[in-house]
Amino acid sequence: MPKRVLILGGGFAGIQAAMDLDPAARRGEVEITLVADQNYFLFTPLLPQIASSNIDPRHIAQAIRDLRGGHRFRFVRASLSAIDVERHEVRLEQACTPDGLDVLPYDYLIVAPGSCTDYFRIAGAKEFTHDFKSLEDAVVVREHVLDLCEHADHTQDPEIRRRLLTFVVVGGGYTGIELVTELHDLLFLYVAKRFRGIPADEIKLVVLEAGSEVLRGVHPKLADHSRRRLARKGIEVRTNTPAARCFAGGVEVKGGEKIASDCVVWTAGVRAQPIVAAMPGPHDRIGRAIVNDQLQLEGHPEVFVAGDSAAAISAQDAPRVAPVAISHGRLAARNVAHHIRGEALESYRYVSKGMLVSLGMNYAVVSIGGLRFSGYFAWLFWNIVHLYTLVGFKKQLQVGVDWLLGLVFPRDAAIVRRPRTCPYCGKQNP
Ligand SMILES: Cc1cc2nc3c(=O)[nH]c(=O)nc-3n(C[C@H](O)[C@H](O)[C@H](O)COP(=O)(O)OP(=O)(O)OC[C@H]3O[C@@H](n4cnc5c(N)ncnc54)[C@H](O)[C@@H]3O)c2cc1C
Repeated sequence: MPKRVLILGGGFAGIQAAMDLDPAARRGEVEITLVADQNYFLFTPLLPQIASSNIDPRHIAQAIRDLRGGHRFRFVRASLSAIDVERHEVRLEQACTPDGLDVLPYDYLIVAPGSCTDYFRIAGAKEFTHDFKSLEDAVVVREHVLDLCEHADHTQDPEIRRRLLTFVVVGGGYTGIELVTELHDLLFLYVAKRFRGIPADEIKLVVLEAGSEVLRGVHPKLADHSRRRLARKGIEVRTNTPAARCFAGGVEVKGGEKIASDCVVWTAGVRAQPIVAAMPGPHDRIGRAIVNDQLQLEGHPEVFVAGDSAAAISAQDAPRVAPVAISHGRLAARNVAHHIRGEALESYRYVSKGMLVSLGMNYAVVSIGGLRFSGYFAWLFWNIVHLYTLVGFKKQLQVGVDWLLGLVFPRDAAIVRRPRTCPYCGKQNP
């Protein structure tokens, strides 16, 4: 009788676990079900390039049913509502099939629903800033930026122009820095050239970082180098400047200064999904489940936690990045197979695979092993690595072609979905 393995999440960790359990499924040892609230795997490292219109959104989303070996696992698109580790079952948000599938029982569970945005209880942050975690978020940011430019192009009032053309990114981690440099490319390589009413010197990009440095986790020399590069591009990076309050039309920083902006994007923090924070056992300060080195939940050897949701006991400081999630997914799959066969389980050891940060077109910083380099070749390396790690040949081809077209043709500035309200006059769009 095959064991029922339930995988929660179709991200880096969940997909990797499903693929690595494939041989066991072929041998009839396991029956795999993967649950996620989206029917595609999202390649998040390229999200900033969706916001800058360098890549078509669908090209970084791979339908889960099309993944290699997909026919050997059952996919259920549904939102999770609760994990009951005592009864060995997971409840879904709503009955999502005609016969009301709302409870999934399991023999082994791999929990990998990733993380969600942490607004640190800052007033107005959730309501008045753009989130930047999903494909939809990136599309919305792109359309919003272009929409503001369309307004600024024919607006005379200098104060309103300033607000429309000031773009603020809260958070100086790699997501915030990659996003602001991509927005810089869109605004300076495209908007400033095509919009007659927008001179380049009126566009302002600001990064607000609460800590004393940006790109924490990257080698200090490279972080410093990146900061100087951003300054040369005219991007204002303000460290030790936490956002204190957000409101319609801007953000107030600690000390009371207000920055007027109709586009504030929040990349400042993440925390575990509520469903993980609600699981029994110890959790770290951002709600991740603290699991043993075999990734098992305390008191539940049949439950494995992986990716952004897990803090392995000896590697709690491991960064929340894709390579860690992939290793977790692999290990969880192997340990499920070991457990079924009564073999000894393997332990997780965090080994940094290095850091690659793109600083817009033609420039990146790379730190791998003892090797550190920056500039054009680092940018080529960044591109090759990301193209190689994209899931599926079709997606690799599509992104590669997008990049090549981007070298020759202007960015695509079509606004496909109009914002519900006009940010300029507040009027509802039909
Ligand atoms: C904008 C951005 C840029 C990034 N850039 C990089 C980078 O350049 N390099 C890097 O290494 N890392 C990067 N990361 C981090 C990386 O994406 C994460 O560390 C990685 O995705 C974690 O993998 P995971 O499998 O734990 O979760 P995810 O990949 O986030 O997958 C979570 C899965 O769970 C599903 N899910 C979540 N909640 C529910 C629910 N309630 N019900 C059902 N399903 C649910 C989601 O739909 C998804 O399928 C970036 C992240 C972001 C947001």
